[in-house]
Amino acid sequence: MKRLFLSLALGVIAVAAVLVVRTVAFTSRQVAPEAGAPLVVDAEAASARLAGALRLKTVAASEGQPADDAAFDALHVYLREHFPRVHASLKREPVGRHSVLYTWEGTDMSTRPVLLMGHLDVVPVTPVTESAWVHPPFAGVVAEGHVWGRGALDDKGSVLAQLEAVEALLAAGERPRRTVLFAFGGDEEVGGQEGAVAIAALLKERGVRLESVLDEGGVIMSGTVPGVAAPVALVGTSEKGFVSVELKVKGEGGHSSMPPPSTAVGTLARAVSKLEATPMPARLAGGSRELFEWVGPEMGFGMRLLFANLWLTEPLVVKQLAAKPTTNAAVRTTTAVTVFEGGVKDNVLPSDARAVVNFRILPGDSVEGVLAHVRKTVDDSRVEVGTLAFQSEPSPVSPTHSDSWRQLERSVRQVFPQVVVSPYLNVAATDSRHFVGLSDNIYRFFPVHLQREDLARVHGQDERIAVPTYLDAVRFYAQYLRNTAF
Ligand SMILES: [Zn+2]
Repeated sequence: MKRLFLSLALGVIAVAAVLVVRTVAFTSRQVAPEAGAPLVVDAEAASARLAGALRLKTVAASEGQPADDAAFDALHVYLREHFPRVHASLKREPVGRHSVLYTWEGTDMSTRPVLLMGHLDVVPVTPVTESAWVHPPFAGVVAEGHVWGRGALDDKGSVLAQLEAVEALLAAGERPRRTVLFAFGGDEEVGGQEGAVAIAALLKERGVRLESVLDEGGVIMSGTVPGVAAPVALVGTSEKGFVSVELKVKGEGGHSSMPPPSTAVGTLARAVSKLEATPMPARLAGGSRELFEWVGPEMGFGMRLLFANLWLTEPLVVKQLAAKPTTNAAVRTTTAVTVFEGGVKDNVLPSDARAVVNFRILPGDSVEGVLAHVRKTVDDSRVEVGTLAFQSEPSPVSPTHSDSWRQLERSVRQVFPQVVVSPYLNVAATDSRHFVGLSDNIYRFFPVHLQREDLARVHGQDERIAVPTYLDAVRFYAQYLRNTAF
């Protein structure tokens, strides 16, 4: 008995020692680069240029509402007029009616080009909210220290900041060693078929292999990661996939006075409720796992102990994350029942019923895996399982040990020295997914320091960007170009 107690005590001490040693060795991964090179940008002129671009209503097509070609034409003319150096020095290739590819040729053709991306289309403004905007969504106003309008954050702010950076570098007489490509899609908000998909196909046809891709995605924010006091720059190293599963049940129809034990609606309801009750398993993978490896060392001892020892604490961490919808999305393929239709009249048996369940797929899972999960969970031959047309596999996870990552990380710390850089999983889709296969190093990051309330402005009301925030984005892109291509 005494010996048992002794070996148990020794065991506990050994585990405690491992926990503490790992925690002590769990040190910050943040790099301390030399200061970035200064960049001359005229704040007033740059804000006015962005505001002007926000006035052009390049709203993405929606059901029964095609995109306005004239607005896109006007935006392209606007960019030509306002970025003269860019248009004198870079090759400009229109792709489709709305998208464009720019090539800034480097001096060393033996190196792979880098690609920066953004999109020119914006989401529509719901008519009910239009009058509630502080400044009308397409007025393009600079006021109260902000540039206001639809697209300020998503994503004209990013496109124009990239062009400002190139314009400034050209003014300083700089020329890249490595070729730099800029792909600006005109239909990101509706899937990117005529923009990013076409541009990726064009590059593939030309045999281009890209060193890296930088698209919109994560931003810099304070208070997003509990326990980390510093603002965190979240860089998407992967993004979730997407599939909408359609469930259909055929019924007999007829009068409801002598019904079968279950109607088409009842059978479908049972299938849907099984799917809600049986989510796909949660796990810490890809960017979500790496997030804790990067931000963990910046936390207090207790949290460091937890994240330095995921070999032991992972189930606890996953359980905590799965408890809230926002963090649950980062650890599993989510299930959302979004459509349920069936039945026409109270005394008529439904002849068919239909539901749509939207899944956002975690890297590591697949469309095929989701379908297998649905069939197994529903386990009812009366329920027909299919998919809607628009679907995408989750992206591969881009590395955090590549030169491309290190250059990106350095650029963030040079322009935002107080910020903690971390990889993470993008739960929303970006156009960058269409470049999978052209590069291993695909990163999703828009270099702006936002407040939590700003997130609701994206696709929402009163979209705006603070002037200093915008200038930081310009500085970031210039620094990033210097680090990656010069
Ligand atoms: Zn966007």
